[in-house]
Amino acid sequence: MLIDSHCHLSFSGFDSFLISRLADKTPEYYSVDLLVDRAVRAGVRYMINIGTHLSDVEQIAKISEKFPNVFRSIGIHPEYAKEHSEKFSFNDMRRIFRKHCEKVNTVAIGEIGLDYYLSDAKEDQKKIFHFQLELAEEFELPVSIHSREAWSDTMEILEDHPKITGVIHCFSGEKEFAERVLKTSFYLGIGGTLTFKKNSILQETVRDLPIDRILLETDAPFLAPVPFRGKVNEPAFVIHVAEKVSELKNIPQKEIEVATSKNFSKLFKKANIYDA
Ligand SMILES: [Zn+2]
Repeated sequence: MLIDSHCHLSFSGFDSFLISRLADKTPEYYSVDLLVDRAVRAGVRYMINIGTHLSDVEQIAKISEKFPNVFRSIGIHPEYAKEHSEKFSFNDMRRIFRKHCEKVNTVAIGEIGLDYYLSDAKEDQKKIFHFQLELAEEFELPVSIHSREAWSDTMEILEDHPKITGVIHCFSGEKEFAERVLKTSFYLGIGGTLTFKKNSILQETVRDLPIDRILLETDAPFLAPVPFRGKVNEPAFVIHVAEKVSELKNIPQKEIEVATSKNFSKLFKKANIYDA
């Protein structure tokens, strides 16, 4: 069983991203129905559709109502931290989170974190990050962490919330970062960047990572793995990540699938994948 632990089937900006990369495909080819259908045919039993903005939440809820194999996560991406702190009060945001986090198919809060590459509103980012970690504690949900050019600040903040667990999504591969994560209860989300030819840093780190701390993901529609690099990514392509992990660790792919599914079920308890 394959699981895509982090993908975006809809989000603010999805259309413009797709249109710039459609190439030989039509927009209909990337309808949620067809994306989910291709994933299932490729052996992907479950996926988590990850939120990035509070304007996404209703659409994400509808997708999970239609597809029981698509879990959902609600969160404010650091890129939108400033916008949210200007537009919403903390009470308003808490009300939206409460409404959605109480639903059975909401299995996580995310993606949340810090991104010093996309935005220099560091203080807004930290405020919104802390706020969402407190919500994760309140609703007893794991978190999906986005950290770009900010791993040391990210870990400092996570270490301030020792009761919270989750996954470092799209882990970039720095050895020091991995060592620090492995000291916590967090998992490392490995995506399509692992298959990039020149990504020897991530490949070397993944070779040594304990298999019981890895999750597979795509971050679709971004970061498509080889042989689709530069194209629109989709959950069906998570198999190429599994193949690469198997090759690097010299462990049969089936074992990688079993282990990462087990990790998934341990972390995302509400997903209940073995009972479904
Ligand atoms: Zn993402």
